[in-house]
Amino acid sequence: MKKLLVANWKCNPTSQKESKAILSALKKNIKQLRKVEVVIAPPFVYLAQLGKVLPKAKKGAQNCFWADKGSYTGEISAKMLKDMGCHYVIIGHSERRNILEEGDRVINKKIKKVLEAKMRPILCIGEEKEDKHKGRTFKVLERQLREDLKDIKKKDLAKIIIAYEPVWAIGQGTPCEENQVMTVALFIKKTITRWANKKTAEQIAILYGGSVDSENLLNYTKGLALDGFLVGGSSLRPKEFAKMIKILEGL
Ligand code: PEP
Repeated sequence: MKKLLVANWKCNPTSQKESKAILSALKKNIKQLRKVEVVIAPPFVYLAQLGKVLPKAKKGAQNCFWADKGSYTGEISAKMLKDMGCHYVIIGHSERRNILEEGDRVINKKIKKVLEAKMRPILCIGEEKEDKHKGRTFKVLERQLREDLKDIKKKDLAKIIIAYEPVWAIGQGTPCEENQVMTVALFIKKTITRWANKKTAEQIAILYGGSVDSENLLNYTKGLALDGFLVGGSSLRPKEFAKMIKILEGL
């Protein structure tokens, strides 16, 4: 399976001009990739431009709504994103959980909608700094997995991508230690095996996200069965992101 490199642009940049400049700068880097699938998740307003400027990248979204259509002012549905050509939707990012107060029940509904629309959800889970210090990491991760994946059929579970993003590692320049990422990846597989079966757990893709850049990327590829990375800050710097693509393609 190809490694996934997912760019989460968050609420950046602030103009079509800047967004076009980032995408154009990546053009020659994703012409013929054999080992890496590049997914760009820009703000919704740049999705059309992404398709035009960088058709080789897969379109991703950073969020969606849990109903198909109706009186929900300001919302964008999974169905609309599918129609727009999206393949992936990030769900449950810690910034949405913390700043926008999105809870596990809503996250669960959104994941189901993304699956129903035949796209792949990228579910973000991760502990806060305090959880880590108080030894609650696995308890938190288990709760998030249990509630976010509630009532999802086994055949659909296999399509879900889980991004382990410790909240204390995001955007801080303090990436998580490789050993912990490996331990969590194994924990996720074991938990899914318990709830579904080994085959499903093997099929579920696991990403790591949290201050990944071209300098530390290789630390996570040694002996780790990771399926790729979710990248925030570094994905807005095209030279840096291109380096990361090159590193993964060269593995
Ligand atoms: C993220 O927000 O998903 C993320 C991983 O950010 P950063 O790479 O900037 O830590």
